[in-house]
Amino acid sequence: MILLIEDEPQMRRFLRVTLQSHGYRLIEAPTGQEGLMHATTRNPEVVLLDLGLPDMDGIEVTKQLREWSEVPVIVISAREQEEDKIRAIDAGADDNLTKPFGAGELLARIRVALRHKTLLHATRKEPVFILEGLRVDLAARQVFLNEEEIHLTPIEYRLLTVLIRNAGKVVTHTHLLKEVWGPVYGSQTQYLRVYMTQLRRKLEAESARPRFLINEPGVGYRLKLTV
Ligand code: CA
Repeated sequence: MILLIEDEPQMRRFLRVTLQSHGYRLIEAPTGQEGLMHATTRNPEVVLLDLGLPDMDGIEVTKQLREWSEVPVIVISAREQEEDKIRAIDAGADDNLTKPFGAGELLARIRVALRHKTLLHATRKEPVFILEGLRVDLAARQVFLNEEEIHLTPIEYRLLTVLIRNAGKVVTHTHLLKEVWGPVYGSQTQYLRVYMTQLRRKLEAESARPRFLINEPGVGYRLKLTV
């Protein structure tokens, strides 16, 4: 079941037609308050959340939701809401779709959100992360690419593990900097660029055309899962 919090009737119609034709059940809420109410009573598997709502903004909805729920939240934003979308992700949203987007992109993001939920359960049991040729043993702190051990510096390793913990989701520059370097480094995006380049050189077959360490321009990075 997907909870859609969106005030624009046309957008709701597009999403309803797309999702229902692919077998998803949908609950619709035109305001943040109604959305939060449905989230508590209907236990949705994914929330699609518009940032501009008539009664409260999507960032506030995300914050309130995150006080008690880990349900995946995909934010729907307009191009001019670049900063708000980053704030929403920092508040705990998992992903973002910028209007206009197509049905294929929407369905792919929903599959990632659902898969991430199962993946999280799996990684709690088994501290080994596997993505194609990449294998990260989180207990032994060892990284292998096609069965060959890869030596990462402590910072590269930390960067990789933050992305693994959030696999499939976009992680903002600020979040990565704070997690890897500490709270005072929140704006030093050039560090991030340098280390991400090194990480790609070590882990990607073609570092100029990364397959899983994906740049999300202006927002952050994503460890892409194949779905
Ligand atoms: Ca709106």
